[in-house]
Amino acid sequence: MKRDTRLIHAGRSKKWTGSAVNPPVVRASTIVFDTMAELKAATQQRGNRVPFYGRRGTATHFAFQEAMCELEGGVGCALYPCGAAAISGALLAFLKQGDHLLMVDTAYEPTRSLCNKLLAGLGIETTYYDPMIGAGIAALIKSNTRVIFLESPGSLTMEVQDIPAICQVAKQHNIITILDNTWASPILCRPFELGVDISIQAATKYIIGHSDVMLGTATANEQCWPQLREQSYLLGYCASADDVYAASRGLRTLGVRLKQHEQNALMIANWLAQRPEVAAIRHPAFADNPGHAFFKRDFSGSNGLFSFVLKQGSAAQVQAFIEGMQHFKMGFSWGGYESLITATLNVQALRSATTWPFSGPLLRLHIGLEDPEDLIADLELAFTRFATV
Ligand SMILES: *Cc1c(COP(=O)(O)O)cnc(C)c1O
Repeated sequence: MKRDTRLIHAGRSKKWTGSAVNPPVVRASTIVFDTMAELKAATQQRGNRVPFYGRRGTATHFAFQEAMCELEGGVGCALYPCGAAAISGALLAFLKQGDHLLMVDTAYEPTRSLCNKLLAGLGIETTYYDPMIGAGIAALIKSNTRVIFLESPGSLTMEVQDIPAICQVAKQHNIITILDNTWASPILCRPFELGVDISIQAATKYIIGHSDVMLGTATANEQCWPQLREQSYLLGYCASADDVYAASRGLRTLGVRLKQHEQNALMIANWLAQRPEVAAIRHPAFADNPGHAFFKRDFSGSNGLFSFVLKQGSAAQVQAFIEGMQHFKMGFSWGGYESLITATLNVQALRSATTWPFSGPLLRLHIGLEDPEDLIADLELAFTRFATV
């Protein structure tokens, strides 16, 4: 089956949907049984998409979990109330006091804070590594290294990692690899074919696609699934049937949405690349983006999220650029149908193992589904405001 067809079919077996097209919302905390034998059978099968207790999920959850495995390629998928919970849940499932974690230097900022604050407090040590390190990661491995965490491309700055090279080294040392795969969504990269053990999605972004639901997933291979599932269950992580229903629904249009996000974003990135104020475009599909060769090898396309760096610009100029936008709203997150903009004046403050090569401010755009000509007109006026401060 081709990708777009798989998106239509994934997780829609009659077992979950009955005679409806979409998996219906099945809300439950308590599941009741008629006989001791039925309860015993459900207890034995409770990790295998069998109704047991609400926290283990209902048919709504099982349908989406099955879909995520079909799309990403793992054997099981744990659900979380948001992407950040999927990250903490996956890390806490495999790390204990005295362990060592290798974390990519360009990780999503709350992931870095989790390591520096919560994990450090539990006696788990983190070493940050250069996203471009590749097989050189071997030199950073210690006897107590248990997990290597990747995020590719990196939040804000878009470095693309050599995922297979890192995973190969990890396997030689019996180290688990966890990838924050949110940028690719479940369809632009096949993480398990690249050697990853656990793939994380902030489903909040493109899977939901409408900026109105928080949800996280962690999909695992056969080796890691039982431990991920049971530890996350012990931590109490679960997601509401209503939110999971919205995620299943989002999958059906993910392919067409992403194609339009990609096309619009490339048009705008190419326009920005011609502007005299711009020092660099950080977009994985651009030839000068760090790791572009890995992007071409491992990804089947791009999306609406990229950044650009200005040659120079004061805080007041950046403020003038962003305030007064008609279509680009200022706000965190991305992956919805609407365009967004955020500014980062000090990228270096967000990293500790690498040196950010630019001095001007960085602007990150999420290109939505508006007509790109309207978005370009919006940016053109922003450059005028920028110049007149
Ligand atoms: C948004 C995001 C997260 C966190 O997801 P939430 O659902 O907001 O908790 C994690 N990783 C990346 C790369 C993200 O962009």
